[in-house]
Amino acid sequence: MLVDIGANLSSPRFDKDIDEVITRAISSGVGQMIVTGTSVTESEKAIALSAGYPGILYSTAGIHPHNAKDSSLASLEQLSVLLDSRYVVAVGECGLDFNRNFSVPKDQLRCFTAQLELAVEKKMPVFLHQRDAHSDFARILAQYIDRLPAAVAHCFTGNEDELIQYLDMGLYIGITGWVCDERRGLDLKSLVHKIPLQRLMIETDAPYLLPRDLKPKPKSSRNEPAYLPHICQVVADCYGRPYTEIETHSYNNSLRFFNI
Ligand SMILES: [Zn+2]
Repeated sequence: MLVDIGANLSSPRFDKDIDEVITRAISSGVGQMIVTGTSVTESEKAIALSAGYPGILYSTAGIHPHNAKDSSLASLEQLSVLLDSRYVVAVGECGLDFNRNFSVPKDQLRCFTAQLELAVEKKMPVFLHQRDAHSDFARILAQYIDRLPAAVAHCFTGNEDELIQYLDMGLYIGITGWVCDERRGLDLKSLVHKIPLQRLMIETDAPYLLPRDLKPKPKSSRNEPAYLPHICQVVADCYGRPYTEIETHSYNNSLRFFNI
């Protein structure tokens, strides 16, 4: 059994057939999925969706750095209320993304810090996003990490120095189908085995990041949780360990991390 720790199932791309998507996930061995919240509105959608599939779907609630420009004090208060929902198991996704700067860095820094404060206050784990912002991200996180129950660097695509720094801070590492990409996933492929098995979790980031090496190649470019076993197999190959060993560790880590 597997847990998909990052699935954007509230995306409109799943509106028409969410039931079938979840059924396919379960029959391929994905027992639980954590629906990613990326704004107050999306987090509300993620919670409502999770309520319809108790014990199968859980959700995070948070404001993605892309949406930081829209986050006011009022939205952080709304977020605080959402975090008390029984279906919400982590704060996030939150963090910094200086790759495209859809929100200016100043807004991102403010919004990230506010969510770390909320996580400390609510004693909840955090689901973290970081792109091209490592040093600011690590500096801010270091101020909170000792007071957080747990934190995961979701969709890790960084280099070895970043990985070591995250592991030293006690972070869990989320690996997506990025590792299946023959063009840009090679560096990650060579790093995966350095993640201690006690810190590894896996995720699809559906509908994004469809694994590029699926055979046969799906007709749709939409990724979905049913492809998580494929990612688990690629990760197992990176370690040179059996599938079941990666499955067991990532599953147990996920249940412990999200307290589900
Ligand atoms: Zn992300």
